[in-house]
Amino acid sequence: MSDRNQTLFDRAKAVIPGGVNSPVRAFKAVGGTPRFITRAHGAYLWDANGQRYIDYIGSWGPMILGHGHPQVLQAVQQAIQDGLSYGAPTEREIELVEEILKLVPSLEMVRLVNSGTEAGMSAIRLARGATGRPKIIKFEGCYHGHADALLVKAGSGLATFGHPTSAGVPPEVVQHTLVLEYNNLEQLEAAFAEHGDQIAALMIEPIAGNMNFVRASVPFMRRCRELCTQHGALLVLDEVMTGFRVALGGAQRLYAQAIPGFEPDMTVLGKVIGGGMPLAAFGGKRAVMEQLAPLGPVYQAGTLSGNPVATACGLATLRLIQQPGFFDGLAQRTRALVDGLQAEARRAGVPFSADSEGGMFGFFFLPELPRNYAQVMASDAARFNRFFHGMLQRGVYLAPALYEAGFVSAAHTDADIAATLEAARSALATL
Ligand SMILES: *Cc1c(COP(=O)(O)O)cnc(C)c1O
Repeated sequence: MSDRNQTLFDRAKAVIPGGVNSPVRAFKAVGGTPRFITRAHGAYLWDANGQRYIDYIGSWGPMILGHGHPQVLQAVQQAIQDGLSYGAPTEREIELVEEILKLVPSLEMVRLVNSGTEAGMSAIRLARGATGRPKIIKFEGCYHGHADALLVKAGSGLATFGHPTSAGVPPEVVQHTLVLEYNNLEQLEAAFAEHGDQIAALMIEPIAGNMNFVRASVPFMRRCRELCTQHGALLVLDEVMTGFRVALGGAQRLYAQAIPGFEPDMTVLGKVIGGGMPLAAFGGKRAVMEQLAPLGPVYQAGTLSGNPVATACGLATLRLIQQPGFFDGLAQRTRALVDGLQAEARRAGVPFSADSEGGMFGFFFLPELPRNYAQVMASDAARFNRFFHGMLQRGVYLAPALYEAGFVSAAHTDADIAATLEAARSALATL
């Protein structure tokens, strides 16, 4: 039988670098042929060979309602009739932002953009402009998009400035980026003690989904908040992945339950708020947001920002996830998945740990949940790759890299979870 995925991959590689428009899609970490998707519906994807998969990527997070939710499609179809883009303001942008403000109490104003990268980059510029300070803190293993100043890994030694993780980023561009270990209180204290009055912002994924699934501990998040307040730095939560995914108000809502009065100064959003269309946002307190052009001196703009079709899609999505019990049901099925995977791994005698929050999950071939990037990367890559391919062969599409989180949608049924666990039992048996 001819493999149409392979034929398409070969054709793609001739004209698109690596055959893909975003690196992780190329299956480089796990090997093998990427599946070229022809259509998606509910919890399922179909590839170019006509093979069906239960989808645990959901476009890397946005598809929280599952693919092709009828009310979302209807909103998009209706919007399209009225034109694809105007480059002028619309009422729907206000509606979407008002909806976001209603659900995320720490936000007073929001600017809409097209991608999480753009939102993260703009948030950093705004934080620097608003504070008049140059330095930013980020954590190893957190991803905030591919802006130059954020493509950086830790240097040697405590709280030293980092090294670019990409060619094409001159060291001078990352000289103001401090890279610290996630959940490491001593490094955090030391960084503020040494550079406190120079730090514009501390940016963090509250649940780091770009190193699979690692929670910032409550004491760590509390200390991030305290130190930012004490030193006049802005606490920026990157909730591009966790926003409207782990809970209705995002991860900040969960931390606010554990830390009375907890709020970030700024929040970066994306993924779910676009419902599958290119849409992201950053927001915060009025005094900070009013530093943005055209009101203030910090420049930021976008030809397609607040696009009428994308905002229609995002708005329909945000309205649907507010149905009573939506997150409870989603969290329950996601928890059933990770508990089931853990039980199957135990039965197979494979060291394994897993966690979830809302509709986001992670699993590791490690006996205990990791707390930072180094621990994540110490997990058994060869075993993960065999498991990934075992699941793929059995019709389950997991993220093709051990450092990526997984996502369950409202379209995933108990039967889908059960089928996934059955696939896992047989895949684990071959490890
Ligand atoms: C996906 C992601 C981004 C980047 O968003 P893009 O839309 O891919 O540019 C930034 N931060 C986090 C936490 C993400 O998960």
